[in-house]
Amino acid sequence: LLHEYRARTPRSAAAFQRAAAVLPGGETRFITYYPPYPVILAEGHGSRLYDVDGIEYLDLVNNYTSLVHGNAYEPAMQAAAAVLSSGPVFPSPHELQWHLAELLVSRIPSVQRVRFTNSGTEASVLAARLARRATRRARLLLFDGAYHGSAPPLLAGDPDVVTVPYNDLDATAKALTGDIAAVFAEPFLGAAGVIPAQPGFLSAVADLARERGALFVLDEVQSLRNAVGGEQGRLGLRPDLTVMGKVIGGGMPIGAIGGSEELMRLTAATTEGNLAHSGTFNGHLTAAAAGAVTLRHLDAGAIDRLDRAACRLADAITTAAAEAGIAASVTRAGSILNLHLAATAPLDAEQARAAATPALAALHVALLLDGVYTTPRGMINLSTALDADDLERAAQAYAHAFQRLADADI
Ligand code: PMP
Repeated sequence: LLHEYRARTPRSAAAFQRAAAVLPGGETRFITYYPPYPVILAEGHGSRLYDVDGIEYLDLVNNYTSLVHGNAYEPAMQAAAAVLSSGPVFPSPHELQWHLAELLVSRIPSVQRVRFTNSGTEASVLAARLARRATRRARLLLFDGAYHGSAPPLLAGDPDVVTVPYNDLDATAKALTGDIAAVFAEPFLGAAGVIPAQPGFLSAVADLARERGALFVLDEVQSLRNAVGGEQGRLGLRPDLTVMGKVIGGGMPIGAIGGSEELMRLTAATTEGNLAHSGTFNGHLTAAAAGAVTLRHLDAGAIDRLDRAACRLADAITTAAAEAGIAASVTRAGSILNLHLAATAPLDAEQARAAATPALAALHVALLLDGVYTTPRGMINLSTALDADDLERAAQAYAHAFQRLADADI
């Protein structure tokens, strides 16, 4: 398999070598590496990606959920380009920032005020600081396998972090002691394998948090695209703080937190004893402009079409696996899916890790060889740029890859 891969991608191999001479490991974002070297992408248009060898791929990654309308989405890119000619960032507030904030406030009932950052990671850090300040408590409760960004204190192993298994209410109740400032939760475990919350789990966690004087922070960095008001609307949740990112920047770097006027007031320059919050590029106008267009075009109809496409693809992949005699399941939250090589869908990160066998990585390479760009860990994200023919082609590539796996051809 790797022989085929190397033979097909010589320019990627050479480019990666050159990158590795100046970037440790040849990359600057862990997730973009897989052995022996990643295909080096050069261009993307709509549902298609092109690598430096000129190979075309069907894009089932969409930059890990940030591109809900596909690559180089014209209206978003035009909005960003318009900003470039008048100045993309100023040392003053700008109307494009409050226009995007107005959109978020109108879509998400728990969000009355918004503060922008440059990434989801920074937004999580700001949410943690705000929770600590508001509660005068130090520790955070996270779920095993959750990803809130690559900075402390949102990392398992940080001294101020307690971690419990997702979907385990008893463990959550036990860990929610009087020194916890906030519980951070994703509406589904994203990076750990798109594992949905069990019905009622998150509302029970939110109730427990409030009962014990901790904030309930919902990380909707990935999930905001799954409903007009985010997954919180679908799940009937009203978090104290919402962490946002990815799709709200329309492909440009962004992050944000949102919450009640009362809580968010602590981040204002006008508030005495405030929590200092600055950033040279906060609310960058390319992201504000591209994000607003992207969200306007992500209405209930578009989301419904994405949902139905994702449902059909999940069915097609599970059917293809069954036909090839491969034990597999697909978990799904809206248009975000994950393939697991286990007959039953995992309920927490540990079960997902067990299902992420070397065969999953082999499938990823087999799919690349068929011109379908997915992730080594089995995650798939759809975009509105994919049409029925694209999805049919994707399903066929999965069927072919499963067959190769069954035949021990990969
Ligand atoms: N939270 C979640 C749920 C995420 O998926 C991510 C990124 N994958 C982040 C936070 C961090 O966002 P960023 O990569 O923009 O820092």
